[in-house]
Amino acid sequence: MELERYDRQIRISEWGVEKQKKLKKAKVVVAGIGGLGGLAALYLTAAGIGKIVLIDKGKFELSNLNRQILGWKKDIGRFKVEAAKEKLEELNPETKIETKIEEITEENVGSLIENANVVVDGMDNWKTRFILNKYCVLKKIPFVHAGVSEFHGQITTIMPGEGPCLRCILPRNPPEKEKIPVVGVTPALFASLQAMEAIKIIIGIGKPLVGKMLFIDGKEMVFETVRVEKMPDCPICGEKS
Ligand SMILES: [Zn+2]
Repeated sequence: MELERYDRQIRISEWGVEKQKKLKKAKVVVAGIGGLGGLAALYLTAAGIGKIVLIDKGKFELSNLNRQILGWKKDIGRFKVEAAKEKLEELNPETKIETKIEEITEENVGSLIENANVVVDGMDNWKTRFILNKYCVLKKIPFVHAGVSEFHGQITTIMPGEGPCLRCILPRNPPEKEKIPVVGVTPALFASLQAMEAIKIIIGIGKPLVGKMLFIDGKEMVFETVRVEKMPDCPICGEKS
């Protein structure tokens, strides 16, 4: 392991070489390589996660480039995961990047997230988020949800068996939007918080956002953390499920 690369984080109290080795052994699945997933993958790679699986079926378009930071002008028309892998490997060849050009469905989700230590939600639709939520609960994989729009968004960490799942928090799917208006710094902000949660969970430092939803309104610069509860009769994580 190139310890020099991670020198500044190893110096953090409670971190050290042993925690760094935990990152090296970890596997993180980044579902969706858009504004959230691209930046989360970038920082997870920089931090020295051993293996990152990038899932996205899309190709870069010009209108992605205000926020999807792993897509550059030369990448327009290329598969997002392929353009992303190239850059991430250049940043840190110690991180193994696996790519999946697939749409996440009920049928393939189990094999896509298998053996992950954390799944990062980089999706732009609720349908897929709830598929991920269900299987993360089933396989007991921590799932770091974030969603953004315009200048605002929300983030929470689903820790199966500990706090509520996404279905407890949102019993019904919110309406889907085909083209979510957004400025690039909003997903960048939430993606770095998601990467922070993933790193904390893997090395076991601090407190993840379990049972709490953090809302940020960047326009007014208001940060608010709201308690979210587990639903005893949740169809996904409740006692009868
Ligand atoms: Zn639930």
